[in-house]
Formats: sequence, structure tokens, C-alpha cells
Amino acid sequence: MTLEQIIQQAKAPAYALPAEAVLKQAAVSRSRGLSEAEAALRLGRFGPNALLAHAPRSAIGILVDQLRSPVVGLLSAAAALAAAFGEWKEAAAIAIVLVINTMIGFFTELRAVRSMEALRKLATRSCRVRRDGKPRTIPAEDLVPGDIVIVESGDVVTADIRLVEAHNLFCDESTLTGESVPVEKSVRPVSPDAILAERASMLHKGTAITRGTGEGVAVATGMATELGLTTRLVIEAESEISPLERKLSELTRQLVVAILIVTALIAAAGMASGRDLMLMIEAAIALAVAAIPEGLPIVATMALARGMWRMARRNVVVERLAAVETLGATTVICTDKTGTLTENRMTAERLWLPSGDYRLDHARNRLLNAAGNEAAFDAPLRRALEVGSLCGTAVLSASGDGGVGDPMELALQRLAGLAGLERASLLAAWPKVHEIAFDTETKMMATAHARDGRLLVAVKGAPEEVLAASTTFGESEAPLTGEDRDEWLRRASALAAEGLRVLALAESTLPADAAPAYEALNFLGLAGFRDPPRIDVKEAIAECRAAGIRVVMVTGDHASTARVIAEMLGLAAPGAAIVVEGRELEALGALGERERERVLAAQVFARVTPAQKLELVRLYQSAGEIVAMTGDGVNDAPALQKADIGVAMGLRGTEVAREAADIVLRDDAFGSIVAAVREGRVIFSNLRRFLVYLLSCNISEVMVVALAVVTGLPLPLLPLQILFLNLVTDVLPAFALATGEGEDDVLRQPPRNPREPLLGVAQWSFVALYGALLTASTLGVLLIGHYWLGLHGDALVTVSFLTLAFGQLFHVFNMRGRRSGLLVNAVTRNPYVWLAVAICAGLLLLAVYAPPLAEALRLGVPDRDGWTLVLLASIAPLLLGTMMGAIGHLLRRGKESVSPS
Ligand code: ADP
Ligand code: MG
Repeated sequence: MTLEQIIQQAKAPAYALPAEAVLKQAAVSRSRGLSEAEAALRLGRFGPNALLAHAPRSAIGILVDQLRSPVVGLLSAAAALAAAFGEWKEAAAIAIVLVINTMIGFFTELRAVRSMEALRKLATRSCRVRRDGKPRTIPAEDLVPGDIVIVESGDVVTADIRLVEAHNLFCDESTLTGESVPVEKSVRPVSPDAILAERASMLHKGTAITRGTGEGVAVATGMATELGLTTRLVIEAESEISPLERKLSELTRQLVVAILIVTALIAAAGMASGRDLMLMIEAAIALAVAAIPEGLPIVATMALARGMWRMARRNVVVERLAAVETLGATTVICTDKTGTLTENRMTAERLWLPSGDYRLDHARNRLLNAAGNEAAFDAPLRRALEVGSLCGTAVLSASGDGGVGDPMELALQRLAGLAGLERASLLAAWPKVHEIAFDTETKMMATAHARDGRLLVAVKGAPEEVLAASTTFGESEAPLTGEDRDEWLRRASALAAEGLRVLALAESTLPADAAPAYEALNFLGLAGFRDPPRIDVKEAIAECRAAGIRVVMVTGDHASTARVIAEMLGLAAPGAAIVVEGRELEALGALGERERERVLAAQVFARVTPAQKLELVRLYQSAGEIVAMTGDGVNDAPALQKADIGVAMGLRGTEVAREAADIVLRDDAFGSIVAAVREGRVIFSNLRRFLVYLLSCNISEVMVVALAVVTGLPLPLLPLQILFLNLVTDVLPAFALATGEGEDDVLRQPPRNPREPLLGVAQWSFVALYGALLTASTLGVLLIGHYWLGLHGDALVTVSFLTLAFGQLFHVFNMRGRRSGLLVNAVTRNPYVWLAVAICAGLLLLAVYAPPLAEALRLGVPDRDGWTLVLLASIAPLLLGTMMGAIGHLLRRGKESVSPS
């Protein structure tokens, strides 16, 4: 190399340099990768591989936000007003209420925010690297320049990478270049002047591998990548606001307006009837402050976060917050078969060749021929086993029980092992020179091997496809006639009808320099695999049925295999499954009404391609369904995006599918989808309970004051007492309701109509009814106390205040589901509810018995009669409510009634 060349090289970008030079610059060995120690050093030097991270919200920031709320403004104004009139005690009491309320709000929000931040970490991406000579999966954030990165079809590229190896590698760079046609990548350097779209030797962060495999060295990470450079200013850590939170903000706004109007009217009525002006203004302010449901959006966040934690415990990671609300309204779940409904633990069971039909004897781990004797490993059998073992990428573990990669391939390798054929030795003899990866569109895969100066192409795939590409068959390579083909298709169906997953094996021999393709193949035979259903699936499917959710199997597998498994799992009654082939979905427009009905009623869709999955989502959505759709491959991304709930697989799935999905199943299990739907419903019903409780409490306060003003009764609550009730005692039970675990019967109700508002007729009726009950008992106590016990002044107000306060506390137990047990239900099982009730009861006792507080709130200690009256009257709304609920339930029997959720 001349000096010029060296200087030239030092300046040239990685894509213009030979791969070796880039490796040298990055000071890394290709075969060993970086050492962990070196990687840690570089992580310190270059920083985490992330675009501007979500800056965690600081505690101070949260506190400042709390102080900016209108309630704080109003209260401060009220305190200032009181101080201006020389009411020092009043001013101090307001200040105390303000401090307590701000603290509650602050700690709630802090917890919710931190919880969300922790949840976000669950959704972090990972990538494959080679370090210390071993392949490892690490969080994408820990990737450093110099890391050797291993990529394959379905990966989202996590850094800017200079390729050092590429096999049939294609990349979708539309996120960077806008070009949606995948471009082919290679290791050849390109011109230093090449524009981004032409840098074929590079993989860029944020783009997606659509095909092939490759390896490269990371040359830029985080903000130093092309993606980081182009988006430097755009990616502000925007916080995600869910539709639920938005709806709650909306509701808050509407309530504020309504409440301001009502309180102004009360104040006006009071002044007109000649009451003390100052008292009326204060009461109006107190009511306004009281009735405004301040913490609504943050409670939504809290309820979401709790629900998401429960989902995480069930192996569900939420990628998009907006999905949580929709989850509970899901009406159809379209699920993969292999790996989701089944274990994806394959064992070969049959091998059906032109030369004989073989069966695996599992107990003795031997291959038997049709006559039941141990198979002789003759030439045709060995040839089929060799092809089966070669064609694949999976690696069997040394013990033979486990391994990494496609379970069918592992099963084939184990089968070949019975004949003493080991994949490693086969590969050593016939090195792999090319590979066409499995593709759900072609439903086949092929590997090409150098063998005796020629190219051996080993093919496996769905029987229809392989047979269509074959022209000869068997050891003798006899011509494959139309009848032969039909006969083998029939045999494949027969295997499938036993519930086996069926593969066809084929091969071809080409000149050494030819390109392998699916043509002129020699068909070798069929292999059948058993894949046991997952243990809990049957139960989960039955749960879905009870929950009014349809479950539909969508599979690339053979119709007969799919039918057998569907009926086995209870997706349809035995013999009654409606199975529709994927290609019918493409002709939907041309279908008649009857046909369309049949497609909509089907429980199984077989031989479905990813494009047809998308059609299916469209079809269901046009029929008004809320669709959850599972997917794992790159091609599934459009269907996942279109579905109301896109569900990606954490174990089997690709990064591309994850990016398109709303939730990810870490265990790929169907049962986890059902658990997520359940949580979606629980979150929604919790929010409803919270709202209904808070609103019925607030309405009772407004009504109590309004009625007293209109009828000329003494005021049952003083302004400061209203503040104390609202800002201190009724928020805690309300918050507790928002975090409950839900009733046992959430999955025995039909799905919620997604267009149903947050509070429907049933909920508003509940609010009105229970608001009225609380009001009635408080005013009743006011009358009894006045006329019967002869109380007046502060002593009278004390009993009415305590009645409402304890009444609201007991009222929390009215918030159980209408069909749940009287004593054992979601509310009584919620420890936070008991904690809240205990704290509030303690605070109320303090308010009565602790002199400074009692003085400020103008509360006295009631005598025995007073306490008896308070307790009886405060428990009355709970007893009456329970009785009315029971009667209403008997009368209506199952019809929707007044209900908190
Ligand atoms: P699903 O995941 O819904 O069961 P796939 O799309 O994975 O269906 O598979 C569809 C068909 O493609 C299978 O029935 C099988 O015949 C064939 N097939 C699946 N995986 C492979 C593979 N790794 N190599 C070759 N053929 C395969
Ligand atoms: Mg599959």
C-alpha cells in the first residue's frame, strides 16, 4: 500500500473501505468479536446505543406540576381571602388541606410515573453479537462500536453496521430513504461518494432485514448513526398519552364546567334567600373545589400501570399504551397454530417414501417399516434422511434432546441420527454454499451443498409446493406423472388427517456454478410430525367462549392438520369445524352472501399467507369485529398493524413483527393473550368504579348543600369540612378502587362495545341513585339531630358531617360487581381498599378528637346518641344499596342493571 492509499483509507467512510480494513480500524477480531471487558470500556466511552433516551421525569418536576393545578390556585385564593378577612384559623386549615392533598397527588403520580418507566424497560430491544468468541444476545442499548453483529431476516438493525458477510441479504430501508423496495446488500465496498440509498455494504439503524443472513461490525451507535443524525431534533422524548387518559381529561373538563354552573346557582339561591354572603361564597368555592375530580388522568395512568404490571407477570409486554383499552373490547382472536396453540416441540412420527412407509417407535427410539420390523437403512431411506438433515439451519444439542432453531428441523436431524447420520459430518463432507431461507409465501426452503464437483440442492416444504416443483421421484428418478402427484397429495392429506404436520423432501443436482431454484426437483417422500397442544389452551379457549370472544385458528399448515388440532382443542365440535383455505380470502369481493357468511363463521383458516391474513383482518373489521391477530414473521407486519390488537411472539417472533405489534407475548402462549384481554377488561372496569365512586360522593356533597340552601335548613357541611372530605378522605378509597384485581367473572361477560362511553347509562344511574342515598341519609340525620336530639350549631353540623364522611367510606363496598359475592368480591379482596378505609377512618377520628384540627374544622365530640345516629345513618346507604341491588337483580335476571362497572 502506498502512503497515499493509507491516507486515503484513513479518511474514507466504512462503506468505501474493504471489510478487513474496517475490522482493523475497529480493533476487533471477526471470529472472536470484542471481549466483554473491552465492550464495557467502549460503552463508557461512546455511551448507550440509544436515540435521545426518555429522560425520566424528575420528582421536582412532578411536584411543580401538582402545584400548577387549578385546585391549588383556587385553594390558595381561598386561604388568602380568609387571611385578608382576618380568619387566621380558617386560612391555616385550608393550607393544611392543601398540603395533604398535594402530597397524596404527588406520591400517587410519582409512583405511577416510575412504574411506567420501569414497564417501558420491559419493552427494550435486543440484538445478537459475538463476544469472547461466543454468540450472545444483548440489549440493543449495550451495543458498542466494534461489536460483531449477527443479523437475519426479521431483525430490525440496531446500529450502523459495515457488513463482513452477507447471504442473499435484503434490507427494507424505507424508514431512512423512503424507498420501499428492499435493497440487496453485499460486502463489496462502494464509492466514497455513494449516497445513503446506495451504500450496499452497510446496514443502517432502524431499517429491517427482509431476507437472508449476514454479519458485520458496528461502526456507529446511538445518535452517531445515520438515523440519529437525521432525527436529531425530531425525537423529543414525547410521553405517550393513551386514549383513556385523553377521555378522562375530556370528562374532567366537562365536569368542571357543569360544577361551576351548579355552584354559582347554589350561591345565588342562597344569597337570594338572605343567607350570610361570605358563607355562601365560601361554600360555593368549597363545593367547586370538592366536586372537581382533579386527579382523573393520573389515576388512569396509575390504573394502566397496575394493569400492565399484572400483564407482565403473565408474560405480556405492552408496546403501545393505546392497546390496553381496546384489548378489553376484543371480539375475535385470530391465532397462529404452531407454537401458540401447540408446544412447537416436534417429533417425527412417519416417513413415507416411494420405497416404503416408516414409523417411529418412540418407546424404543427405533424406526420400523410397514411390517413392524426394524427398518433396514437402505439407499433410498438414507438419501431422504440426508436431505432432511442437511436442509435447515437448526443446530441439535450434543445430547440430542434440545437444540436451537426450527423444531421440525431438529426432529429431522434426530431421525437421521437413528441411521448414524450426523448433520455436522454431513456438512463437513458437503459444505453448504448457499441457502434459500424458508418463506411463508413459497412455504419451502432449500440449501445447496458442494458435492463431488457438483451442487446438491436439498429442499423441504409444504407437499403441494414441493410436488408442484418436482418432475421426477424416488431413487430411480422416475418421471412424476399427474396421477403420481395426486396420489402423493392424497397421502399427504392422509397424514395430515391424523393431525400430523407434513413436510415433503426433494433434491436436485446441478452444475457447480448454477443458482439453486425450486424447479426440476426429484421428490423423495413425506415426513409427518407430531406437535402436542399446549396444556392450558383448551381451557383458555373455553374461557374465551364464555367471554363472548371468538377464537379462530390462522395457520400456514395443511387444512386437515389444522382441522384435527382445532377440534382437539375445542375450537369447534368434533367433525363440525368449518375450514377455509387462505386463497378464498383473496377472492372475497367475488364471493356471494352465503359464501361470505361461511367464511365469517369459519373457525380455521389453513394454508394462509401473510397477505391473506391482512385480508382476513379487513373482513372481520368490516363486519364490526374488534380483531386481535398474532404474527411472527416480517411479512406479518402489515396484518399486525391493521389489526386492532397486533400480537407478536417474543420467543419465535422477529423484531419487525414486534415493532408492528401492540403487545408481545414473552412465552408465545395463547393463554397469555386471554390473560391480557382479561386485564384489559379489569383496567376499564376499575376506572369506571373509580369514577362512579368519586362522582357519587361528589354529587352527594353538592346535593346536600344545595337542598339545604333551597329548603332553608341549616348548612349540613361547612366549607372547610367539604374540602377535608374531598381532598383527604374520599380520594384514597377511590384510588384503591382503581388498582383492584377485578372480579372473578370478568371473563364471563360479553365484550364491551368499544363505542360505549366511559360512563354509560348504567353508570350514571348508579351515580344518581347512590348520590341520592347518601344525600338522604345525611339530611335525615340533620333533621333527626335537630328535632329529636335537640342539637344545633356546631354539634348538629358534626353529626351530619360524620354521617356523610363515614357513609362515603362504607359506600366503597357498594362498588362490587353486580354479580359478585356479597362478602367476597373484588372490593373486599383488594387490600388497598381496606388500607384506605382504615387511614380515612383514623383521619376522621382525629378530626373529631384532636383539638387543633377539630377546632379548625369546627367539629365537636358527639355523645353516645350522636355516634349511634351517625353509625346507623352512614351504614344505611350500603345496606339499602345492597338490598336494592339484590332485588333489582332478581327482577331483571341477568339484564344489564344499575352497575358500577
Ligand atoms: P404455521 O406456523 O401456521 O403452522 P407455517 O407458515 O410455519 O405455518 O408453515 C406452513 C407450512 O410450511 C408447513 O405446513 C410446512 O409444510 C412448511 N414449513 C414450515 N416450516 C418450514 C421449514 N422450516 N422448512 C420447510 N418447510 C416448512
Ligand atoms: Mg410457523
